[in-house]
Amino acid sequence: MAILVVGGAGYIGSHTVRELEKAGQQVWVFDNLSQGHAEAARGDRLIRGDLLDRAALDDALRGRDIDAVMHFAAFASVPESVADPAKYYRNNVVGTLNLLDAMLAAGVTRIVFSSTAAVYGVPDVVPISEESPTRPINPYGFTKLAIERALADYAHAYGLGYAVLRYFNACGASSDATIGEDHTPETHLIPIILQVALGQRESLSIFGTNYPTPDGTCIRDYIHVEDLADAHVRALAKIEPGRGLTYNVGTGVGASVRGVLDAALQITGRPIPAVEFPRRPGDPPALVASSDALQRDLGWSPRYPKIADVIASAWKWHSTHPNGYRSR
Ligand code: UDP
Repeated sequence: MAILVVGGAGYIGSHTVRELEKAGQQVWVFDNLSQGHAEAARGDRLIRGDLLDRAALDDALRGRDIDAVMHFAAFASVPESVADPAKYYRNNVVGTLNLLDAMLAAGVTRIVFSSTAAVYGVPDVVPISEESPTRPINPYGFTKLAIERALADYAHAYGLGYAVLRYFNACGASSDATIGEDHTPETHLIPIILQVALGQRESLSIFGTNYPTPDGTCIRDYIHVEDLADAHVRALAKIEPGRGLTYNVGTGVGASVRGVLDAALQITGRPIPAVEFPRRPGDPPALVASSDALQRDLGWSPRYPKIADVIASAWKWHSTHPNGYRSR
């Protein structure tokens, strides 16, 4: 199969490209490199273009016998989406609708779409199943839910086949530590903690210590990026025309901010000063996935179920690439 990986030079996209190539698929990457890194994508397979540029999408999809699209190219910072929702709606919604139009025009009818646990908002029950109500509490979650809805309608009307994967907290790096997480600015917990361990930041700000959780800090389900990538390859194989699949991707086990910090202290053996701050807007207290459906239907299971192993993987990348891809 030939697959166009939109956002394939980014963090999760680049790891999925590797997994697809391992599975023998032919891969093309479409990326505007606004967040992605050319170093993370194979140069001869990289098409530089923007989702808002319909002609560039048409060019990428035509003449390459593309069978399916994987779409990772979204802005994904909750606090930024609260501060600048227009940026999120334009790229994540308008850009994706553009991509779907271009796919339909080119006769490409299969897509794997990156969604998020943020579509659930504050869940009534944890672990969260796919049937839980979707009630986002931040613009980022709304942009992803809008596209989930569009996919269902497009499947019904135009015969599009799709898989929606609702990621929990992606983290870690490739097992050979040659690709990993490199965002500017960095807002995610694990890379920030490791930057403090490396002496690149003075301290970790713990956002909120009065949540209704055992230690008062937020609980998240940290899922290794290679486990996420594996879920994509499996989901793609199951897509059927006119039908949609929706799966959570998480480990089923949550870790608190303090829990992640403690594990990082052990793994790095370095001091990691932390300062307590008020809650960050848009943060639900606890998000943990039930991935029972993914395990049952696709035979998937996490190869990194333990937070310590996830942090060790991230540490291997960050300690060998203290300045991300610019370290080379
Ligand atoms: N967090 C924190 N300090 C930071 C960054 C994140 O306390 O510098 C907390 C954040 O409030 C959330 C958790 O860590 O409860 C995970 O946040 P992250 O931004 O990594 O992922 P999100 O859950 O927003 O997708």
